[in-house]
Amino acid sequence: MSAHAYSPVTERTVEELQKLIGASNVSADLEKRIAYSYDEVPRFYWDKEYIAEVVVFPETTEDVSALMRYANDHRIPVTPRGAGTGLSGGAVPFSGGIVLSFEKMRAIIELDKKNLTITVEPGVVTAEITKAAEREGLLYAGDPCSGDASFIGGNVAENAGGNKVVKYGTTGNSVLALEAVLPDGTVTWFGGKRRKDATGYDFAHLIVGSEGTLAVVTKIILKLLPLPGKVLDLLVPFPDVASAIDFAPRVMSEGKVIPSSMEFMDRRSIKLAERFLNTRLPFDDAGAHLIIQLEGNDPEVLADDMERIGDLCFAHGALEVFVADNRTTRDKLWKARKCLAEAIMAFYPKYSLEDLVVPTSEIPKLMAETTRLCTKYGLEEANFGHVGDGNMHVNILFPEERPDWHDIVDALLDELYDFTASIGGTLSGEHGIGLKRQKYMCRVMDASQMELIHRVKLAFDPNNILNPGKMISCPDRE
Ligand SMILES: Cc1cc2nc3c(=O)[nH]c(=O)nc-3n(C[C@H](O)[C@H](O)[C@H](O)COP(=O)(O)OP(=O)(O)OC[C@H]3O[C@@H](n4cnc5c(N)ncnc54)[C@H](O)[C@@H]3O)c2cc1C
Repeated sequence: MSAHAYSPVTERTVEELQKLIGASNVSADLEKRIAYSYDEVPRFYWDKEYIAEVVVFPETTEDVSALMRYANDHRIPVTPRGAGTGLSGGAVPFSGGIVLSFEKMRAIIELDKKNLTITVEPGVVTAEITKAAEREGLLYAGDPCSGDASFIGGNVAENAGGNKVVKYGTTGNSVLALEAVLPDGTVTWFGGKRRKDATGYDFAHLIVGSEGTLAVVTKIILKLLPLPGKVLDLLVPFPDVASAIDFAPRVMSEGKVIPSSMEFMDRRSIKLAERFLNTRLPFDDAGAHLIIQLEGNDPEVLADDMERIGDLCFAHGALEVFVADNRTTRDKLWKARKCLAEAIMAFYPKYSLEDLVVPTSEIPKLMAETTRLCTKYGLEEANFGHVGDGNMHVNILFPEERPDWHDIVDALLDELYDFTASIGGTLSGEHGIGLKRQKYMCRVMDASQMELIHRVKLAFDPNNILNPGKMISCPDRE
């Protein structure tokens, strides 16, 4: 199926969509269509403008089902959209058509204290789920840095990670069940409130991370946990990147603690955070910082853990160990960590934010190769990320405009992705493939895997109407 085989959205289409879900839930206004056609990958990244032909705002699962059935019958492409904070172009309407926004489906339907679950619609902002759970003394473990803005539906579609993955896993680890609307409009549930399920294929977790290419998620049941009684963060400056990275795995292997977070920031990242927030961080001239978060219920056990990890830090070259044990200092610390992507967007005219993941033992090689490549191409780098998961946000920065910037990024990423694959890594740990990385999928997937991906896609979406052009480069079918 080629791109021109899709039907255009006409005035009549808009009228029919309005009849299906109400006039106020359909917009063909150009300004709105543009506003809903981008995520946080900058517009300059794309070779052309990809603009939705119409934006729809369903209020119920029935609305979504009716929309999908209509789009499938008329062969109109549909791009689901959460909050548009994605960093891979997943919500960009590559083939035009309908953008399906979930901003009106934002109900927290139920918090079930007996089963420790929370059931939500896809348009709920991630942080609202955290707060709702906390009010009941419970923990929702998903914690992407974008959590104040991102929607849970987008987190599920990307299998978002974040700051607590080292202990609790990615969003998918919290997903027990999904209500999904298939591309032909069929509504079905995958999974349930049960903690185990060995009945057939695990479709719920096939949908998790499928980037809106297989089904549209309309309800989500998430697992909750007891909220730890006390949390403290250690900010640990090291003289250089190598010593910080070398230390990170020792927290678990020698300190015998699973931290709830273990984050890394290099010197340029620290400086960017300071500039962006107009603040100073301790030891801001250090080569790199780790943030190590510990949590528990028994204050004495936690104090012991802190002391043991602190001693270990000093034994392995830490310059200092700062303890943030109250909300204000912890918030300041995390604000610095969480603002880094935005700081890059604010201060660099051109950049590429990458999301590489490697076995943790290979991080030093990845860092060294990044430096080598940035030096080779005359660029800057700022690296930070989830060091406990081997997931490094390697960021390629252009200090000034260069007309050939796209060719340079392409050449650099060609080398960097190949190197990452050669050390057992892959293209993305949490931001996804989307439109940005789909041409590189063959670097990390062999022909048999690519064929399976195509077949799975066709099994769910034989007409290729759901988020076409994403994740898989599928030229013969688009
Ligand atoms: C400053 C900043 C910090 C970030 N930090 C992190 C981080 O720590 N960890 C992390 O993992 N990511 C992070 N991200 C990336 C981004 O926030 C996540 O990928 C997030 O999960 C996207 O959610 P969203 O609601 O914005 O989705 P969108 O960007 O709108 O969409 C993302 C994808 O989900 C699909 N989709 C959305 N809703 C549905 C649905 N209901 N059904 C099916 N498909 C759907 C879309 O089609 C698209 O493919 C960060 C981004 C920024 C800008």
